[in-house]
Amino acid sequence: MRKLASIQKISKLEPIEGANSIVKATVLGWQLVVKKGEFNEGDLCVYCEIDSILPERPEFEFLKPRKMRIRTIKLRGQISQGICFPLSILPEGTEIEEGKDVTEILGITKYEPPIPANLEGVAKGRFPSFIPKTDEPRVQIMQDVLDKYKGETFFYTEKLDGSSATFYYNDGEFGVCSRNLELLETEENTQWKLARKYKVEEKFKGLNKNMAIQGEVIGENVQSNKYNLRGQDIYFFNAYDIDEHRFLNLDEFEEFFKKMELKTVPLLEKNYKLSNNIEELVELATGKSVLNNIQREGIVLRPVKEIVDNTGRISFKAINPKFLLKYDD
Ligand code: ATP
Ligand code: MN
Repeated sequence: MRKLASIQKISKLEPIEGANSIVKATVLGWQLVVKKGEFNEGDLCVYCEIDSILPERPEFEFLKPRKMRIRTIKLRGQISQGICFPLSILPEGTEIEEGKDVTEILGITKYEPPIPANLEGVAKGRFPSFIPKTDEPRVQIMQDVLDKYKGETFFYTEKLDGSSATFYYNDGEFGVCSRNLELLETEENTQWKLARKYKVEEKFKGLNKNMAIQGEVIGENVQSNKYNLRGQDIYFFNAYDIDEHRFLNLDEFEEFFKKMELKTVPLLEKNYKLSNNIEELVELATGKSVLNNIQREGIVLRPVKEIVDNTGRISFKAINPKFLLKYDD
C-alpha cells in the first residue's frame, strides 16, 4: 500500500522564476509548489501524494472542483506533484514523527481508474499465492535504494499504460489472472482472448517448467487506448520461475520471450549506470512512446541481474510528468 499521506520534512525551498507568491518545495523526491511564507526549510508538514482523494472538509474545499483528487499540475511553468498541509490538519493528539503514515487517520483514499467489464472478467478465485502480484513503487520514495545501488548496471523499459495480466503453468495447470484475481475462461474476457490468440498454454506445455509470465494489456477499451490500437495486445515485462521463486535475469528474460514468440515491453536501454539523483531519473522517464507518437507513461528500472534485498525486489518506476499533465484525467 502506498503511503498517500505522511508526515515529511520540507528539505528545500527555492524561488520560482517570475513568481512572487509561490515557491518550489522538495519533499522526499517530489517537487511541488507551496505558498511563500507558509513553511520554512526543515519544517515538518503533512505531505499528500498525487492520486490522494481527500475527504470533504473545509480545509480541503479548494479541491472540490477537482473531485477532491490531487493531480499533477503546472503553475508558472513549475510542475507540482502533491500538496503540503500544515500539521494542524491532523487530529489533536496525533504523535508527530517524520515518515509516519497518516493516510488512514485523515480518511484519505486512493484514486483508481475504472476497469471496463472486458478486463475485469469473472473471478475464478484469488490471485495465486505462488506468484507475486505486479506492482512498481515510485522513484520519488526510493532515495535509500538509489544510494545503495548507485553506479550498478540497470536496464529500463518503457512503462505502458494498460492493465496487467498474468499467465501461469503450474503442475500441469494453466491459469489466467487479472491484476488481483484468477479469471474464469470466457469468450469475451480480454486476458483469456490474448492467451488463446498467442497460444500461451501450448507454449508453456513445451517448456517442462512451472512458470508465470506477466504483461501489460493495452488497446481498445483499455485506459482510453492512447496507443490507438485495433483490438488489444499484450507486452510482457516479467518471467517468473515458480519452483525457484525468482524472476529471470535480463539475458534469460530476453531469450525466454524470444523462444516463446511473445512480445516484451520496449527495452530502451540495457546498460544504464544507475544515478541516485531523482530529478535526473524523472528526466530520463520523459520522452515519447516507442509504440505511438505520444508522451510515454514513463520507464521501469531494474538491475540486469535481479536483486532481492530486505526491501524486496529491486524494481521501480519513474513516471513522465508530461504524461501526467496530459492524460491524468
Ligand atoms: P500506484 O502504485 O503508483 O498507485 P498502480 O499500483 O496502479 O499505481 P501502476 O502505475 O499501474 O501502478 O504501475 C505498476 C504497473 O505497471 C505494473 O503492475 C504493471 O502492470 C505495469 N507496467 C507497465 N509497463 C511496465 C513495464 N515496462 N515494466 C513493469 N511493469 C509495467
Ligand atoms: Mn502500486
